[in-house]
Amino acid sequence: MSKPIKLRVEGVSKRYGAAYALKETSLIVYEGEFLTLLGPSGSGKTTLLSILSGLSIVDSGEIWIDEKVATHTSVHERGIGMVFQNYALFPHLTIYENIAFPLRMRKISEKEISRKVGEVLEVVRLPQVPNRFPKELSGGQQQRIALARCAVYEPTIILMDEPLGALDKKLRDDMQLEIKRLHVELGTTIVYVTHDQEEAMSMSDRICLMRDGAIEQLGMPDDLHFRPVSRFAADFLGASNIFPADVLSIAGERIELRAFGKARVIGAAERPVEFNSHLVAFMIRPEHIRILEDGETANNVFSAMVTRTIMNGSITRHYVALENGTELVTAEFTLAPMRSDRRVGRNVRIGWSAEHTIVLPH
Ligand code: ADP
Ligand code: MG
Repeated sequence: MSKPIKLRVEGVSKRYGAAYALKETSLIVYEGEFLTLLGPSGSGKTTLLSILSGLSIVDSGEIWIDEKVATHTSVHERGIGMVFQNYALFPHLTIYENIAFPLRMRKISEKEISRKVGEVLEVVRLPQVPNRFPKELSGGQQQRIALARCAVYEPTIILMDEPLGALDKKLRDDMQLEIKRLHVELGTTIVYVTHDQEEAMSMSDRICLMRDGAIEQLGMPDDLHFRPVSRFAADFLGASNIFPADVLSIAGERIELRAFGKARVIGAAERPVEFNSHLVAFMIRPEHIRILEDGETANNVFSAMVTRTIMNGSITRHYVALENGTELVTAEFTLAPMRSDRRVGRNVRIGWSAEHTIVLPH
């Protein structure tokens, strides 16, 4: 399977003074792909995006667009659309004129402009607003118009830097769907920046997790969820139940750890495990930990006491404390009212299978 490559970043780096904003980085973005740069503030996301856009010049490396070197191609010649959080509309222009603006810059006929503006307003589902001014629209509607203005000249690449950062939760959710729909309808290659792991998970074909100006992990949302490469990745992707451990033995795919004081934890290493120290970390996803019924067993079984339960609509979480005091959280669908044998203060047995012990470098 060889997908056409839209963007190629090779050995690109960027410094400000002595400090690297982006260490030597290489990355490929495929045609039509939705790739998200995810990472904490200061990890180099905006730096990488502005290098792609041409707004920022690299210190080393090359950028390729459509398999042609574009490292020193100007912003305008790259034909890339951009939507930023603070990419404001022109307040004194109507919505129609705001969207027409990039087309006028390109000397397109009035008739063609009218057709394209009408079309793109349909795409963002605001066909009724061409004669209004930006301040007469809600924040979310303005952001859709910013999107329309970017999409109207049909760039084959769109870069978005935290475009939903200023919107409240409900609007963000709507806009996420809107952007995904646009992506599918227009077939555009999108490089999207966010620091919100849920947003990245739900929108992306692939996620590029950044840390300190470098790529920590690049993969499909599934990869990052099930196979984080490091404690940082697991943490950033919102994992709970991460604990330190010592490696006791590795035999084939079976790995034995010592954790929670002197307890043994069994894991399955699906990829060859090579740790340069006996000290590792491991994690278990809350949904993989079961509260066991009498007589039920698992690779890893511990006695625990329920310390807290939170029923958040369709998901119920039980926080449980092991005998040495370590707290874990379990999660399950709320399929029935809370059972009395799982209330706070009750003793339970929890269990999970070896394959769900995910071992991480410490
Ligand atoms: P992010 O978008 O992930 O929050 P940035 O790419 O904006 O991160 O920044 C990466 C690093 O580079 C940060 O440490 C930031 O302080 C630094 N940096 C970014 N832009 C500049 C600049 N114009 N001058 C000096 N340092 C900068
Ligand atoms: Mg940024």
